[in-house]
Amino acid sequence: MPELPEVAGLTSFLGGRLRGAVLEKLQVLSVAVLKTADPPYTALVGRTVTGVQRFGKFISIDAEGLHLVFHLARAGWVRYTESPSAAPLRPGKGPIAARIGFAGPDGQHVGIDLTEAGTKKSLAVYVVRDPRDVPGIAGLGPDPLDPAFGPGQFAEILASHSQQIKGVLRSQGVMAGIGNAYSDEILHAAKISPFALASSLDQDSVRILYDAIHSVLGAAVQEAAGKAPGDLKDTKRGAMRVHGRTGLPCPVCGDTVREVSFADTALQYCPTCQTKGKILADRRTSRFLK
Ligand SMILES: [Zn+2]
Repeated sequence: MPELPEVAGLTSFLGGRLRGAVLEKLQVLSVAVLKTADPPYTALVGRTVTGVQRFGKFISIDAEGLHLVFHLARAGWVRYTESPSAAPLRPGKGPIAARIGFAGPDGQHVGIDLTEAGTKKSLAVYVVRDPRDVPGIAGLGPDPLDPAFGPGQFAEILASHSQQIKGVLRSQGVMAGIGNAYSDEILHAAKISPFALASSLDQDSVRILYDAIHSVLGAAVQEAAGKAPGDLKDTKRGAMRVHGRTGLPCPVCGDTVREVSFADTALQYCPTCQTKGKILADRRTSRFLK
């Protein structure tokens, strides 16, 4: 799933290419994708793109008072092309959820496809007058990279949450933009167990965690900046130290990266770096480790 750094990369990439272009056509291939009915999505046609913004993991293409907002969910992505096909799309089982065509200031045509792999479809598109009309955006917590988000505010947030820190970090209502991958990476960088309770972290740990959020996300945002959508996934994968690396050596200490799996997700961590060597309970026996 694209998280804050990849969504930031996509946002700046799209902003650089679409600002000043006129939205020519918008095809939504499945009714389930479009979450709003008023204003109608056809109202976007003929409007000029004035900017592209990020809200947590949402992207908003702003077009003269209307906003085309989308959330890529778990398996969604953006495909950008400078030679869009003129043929209309047929609804079917393909990965394309929506196709948007633009005409640039010099008359050249560009297009983006919102795609979603897999059978579970949760990519969402909204057409709104204000991005905050999207419930998922209205409910977002502060953006961790917002300069106004200071260590004091972070400490207050943690003090008021008694849940495990892993879940708190990735809760969009607590902080916007961090998901499963970067929460694993942030906790590894901070040497904190994913099962530690947020409200019980001491002052030093809270400060270390605050700094880790900034170093991990900051580095990833920098890596993602200027990259084409097609390169962002590999960039992300290549930067991971524990996430998605079950059974491989921790690049910091050499211990084996372990996994805790849940019904539909899994987390990874390094016992030596994060849990004083303790193996966290997993509800199923790991296939990877003896
Ligand atoms: Zn380690």
